[in-house]
Amino acid sequence: MIAALYEAGADIFRLNFSHGSHEDHAASLKAIRELEKQIGRPITVLQDLQGPKLRVGKFKDGKVMLQQGANFRLDLTDGIGDEKRASLLHPEIFAALKPGATLLVDDGHLRLKVKTCGKDFAETEVIIGGVISDRKGVNVPDVTLPIPALTDKDKADLEFGLSQGVDWVALSFVQRPEDVAEVRMAVDGRAGILSKLEKPSALDHLDAIVELSDAVMVARGDLGVEMPMEQVPMLQKRIVRACRKHGKPVVVATQMLESMIKSPVPTRAEASDVATAIYDGADAVMLSAETASGLFPVRAVTAMHKIIRQVESDPLHTDLMKAGHQETEHSSPAAITAAAGQIAHTLRAAAIVTFTSSGSTTLRAAQERPEAPILCITPSMHAGRRLGLVWGVYAVVGDFIHSVDDIGDVAVEAALASGIGKDGQALVITAGMPFGKVGSTNMVRVVWIGGETRAS
Ligand code: PEP
Repeated sequence: MIAALYEAGADIFRLNFSHGSHEDHAASLKAIRELEKQIGRPITVLQDLQGPKLRVGKFKDGKVMLQQGANFRLDLTDGIGDEKRASLLHPEIFAALKPGATLLVDDGHLRLKVKTCGKDFAETEVIIGGVISDRKGVNVPDVTLPIPALTDKDKADLEFGLSQGVDWVALSFVQRPEDVAEVRMAVDGRAGILSKLEKPSALDHLDAIVELSDAVMVARGDLGVEMPMEQVPMLQKRIVRACRKHGKPVVVATQMLESMIKSPVPTRAEASDVATAIYDGADAVMLSAETASGLFPVRAVTAMHKIIRQVESDPLHTDLMKAGHQETEHSSPAAITAAAGQIAHTLRAAAIVTFTSSGSTTLRAAQERPEAPILCITPSMHAGRRLGLVWGVYAVVGDFIHSVDDIGDVAVEAALASGIGKDGQALVITAGMPFGKVGSTNMVRVVWIGGETRAS
């Protein structure tokens, strides 16, 4: 199935640590790395940490009905709940609650309003009633909880994931910039850090969190529980725009092709939602239950891939990317990268070819959203895998280049082997020299496939 999903267009596989054992994830990772060996190019793996998932305790007979307008108490007493009370064994919630705060239970299906509270209890009024059952999740949107970025489970999962060689780590329920800084210390350069934006408090520090992260996810599932659903489209645009401004890759996630969990074709509204994320400038779009447990995982990836292709071939997409383009910073790497995009446009080039060891030249090229795809050639499997999250990048791993005289031949060979270019087409090459020095993009060159170098 992993091979079929890759063939259908998947670039990244997410291992969701809210589910499954370490053995399950190790088996998935092994299958992905075996596929990677077979196809001979990097595949990206994202480890998604569960984060602080808050839950109520258990109930008599597993569930009770809460009536709208009734009083309902939550407290630290460990015991079976009923229509009047339930245990909520999270002292940090009570420490931060204030009268008037909202508690959302079961993805917002039930809504409670705090009337009075103390360090070990909250008396609430049921604003939206319904059935509450064992261990349902609780969201507290109005308060910044005094909890660390990583739970003990996250810490153990993170060490496991890093030891297995994941490329990205996704941090759930980021609340403040300090959360990202804390995780960065723990990760220590071994993977990229992707912040999932799903808490209102994170949106209060949007720019700071984006700046500190290597990538960001618009996690619309929990975002749409913590915030009114009608704000999700606006927040998606705000977050994507902030990421484009800071040059950080951004993923739009959740319910993108939800009906395909059970149906072989998406609704037209879902097709439009995927397209909107691409027109907004997202680097990646994500499927969850559609591929994790749905009936049509390969069809879902195929559908998504087709929509992406269609949108990216639309001149309106090019216009929108140009309109949203940030002013080029005043540095020679930025100027050279911008020039490469312009040359690729003028020559209708088959690709922009980036030679990189850290990935920075390639990331810069993608920030320009050029009209040509980006063929990244890197001696580092690690860098190639990480770049799978970045817009427009097709990474291949090649030998370390020692001499600038070799880059034309290597670029042409890679373009032909990957099917990205054909005879008579131009390739626009960018690189930083001396090779291996991070962030030093300082060269642009044009080569023609099947011909002499006609310009340099
Ligand atoms: C989300 O909430 O949208 C999300 C992507 O996170 P998870 O899949 O962990 O719920």
